[in-house]
Amino acid sequence: MKDISLGRDFSPSVNVGSSSVHGQGIIATHAISKDQRVFVFHGLRIHSPYVPEAGLFSSLFPNALGMNDDVWVCPESKENLGTFLNHSCDPSGYVGHGMIIRALRPIKRGEEVTIDYSTTEGDQYWSMTCHCASPKCRGTLYASNTPYWKRASQEQTV
Ligand SMILES: [Zn+2]
Repeated sequence: MKDISLGRDFSPSVNVGSSSVHGQGIIATHAISKDQRVFVFHGLRIHSPYVPEAGLFSSLFPNALGMNDDVWVCPESKENLGTFLNHSCDPSGYVGHGMIIRALRPIKRGEEVTIDYSTTEGDQYWSMTCHCASPKCRGTLYASNTPYWKRASQEQTV
């Protein structure tokens, strides 16, 4: 859904603002309940096999999120909220079925919506240095053995 007047993805509960993690981020304009839908992450679908040169892919498409083993979704512009979705090692949000960003816990007005990038990557060659400054910061991020899309498909079969 688009808000034409803003020219940017519309979400009733967030807007783009100053981030405590990195540059600009997605900031709650209203209190958000646990598991509440925040926005749909969308963009260009890019097919890429896992290769050791994947670092190049990450640098070309730093905002892309993994959708499954070889498809990433890359926000196309600053009109996409996903462009501003930052990582935190102590995230307030997560990626659910249909690439819907949801609240991992109650989020207060003014708090940033972040996800754990490791939960969206299955690429064994991927890593990223983290400066999120959370007490839980892992320093270097690596791909999860069970990225969200694998967990989602497991949940659907249970
Ligand atoms: Zn961190």
